[in-house]
Amino acid sequence: MITIRNKTFVPFLSPAALEARIAQVAHQLNEDYKGKMPLFIVVLKGAFMFSAELFKHVTIPCEITFVRLASYESMESSGRVKQIMGLEESVENRHVVLVEDIVDTGLTMAQLVAQLRQKGAESVEVATLLHKPDALKQPVDLRYIGFEIENRFVVGYGLDYDEQGRNLDSIYVLAE
Ligand code: 5GP
Repeated sequence: MITIRNKTFVPFLSPAALEARIAQVAHQLNEDYKGKMPLFIVVLKGAFMFSAELFKHVTIPCEITFVRLASYESMESSGRVKQIMGLEESVENRHVVLVEDIVDTGLTMAQLVAQLRQKGAESVEVATLLHKPDALKQPVDLRYIGFEIENRFVVGYGLDYDEQGRNLDSIYVLAE
């Protein structure tokens, strides 16, 4: 049990469980992207620990880059617009794999996939450590999923609660 800003979190996914499943996801990527020289785009900050573990097991030739997302209120569309920041590589005619910590409503991922397709990527797939199917509001095709979890708030292993908890070596869930 741990406490962050007066909230209690209990262990949910152990380091061993995370490592075993992430290695499986990497092996699947090795199979699917053999000879394709994929461009992995890691979405910071949350995916930093997941991606580090994942890439220990990705053995095919590939490129890896890191981006952050800027979020702003749009006048034209309802809700917040997410924009990719810091992408220096061209995605034109590339096989892109977005590496994310968690897909919750799916709104973020749906926007990112659309933006990368618009920039001319040949293919865009998503590798997410966690997915909350019950929270999904926007259909998004998630090819690689570490764990499907309940619609509860989690921290650790890169994911934060108010910027804390990213350094935890496993995933914790908010106690009910
Ligand atoms: P979506 O657009 O899919 O709703 O948003 C995904 C983003 O919301 C994630 O990248 C993450 O930053 C945040 N998020 C969603 N659920 C959780 C959660 O349970 N814990 C934490 N720490 N962040 C979450």
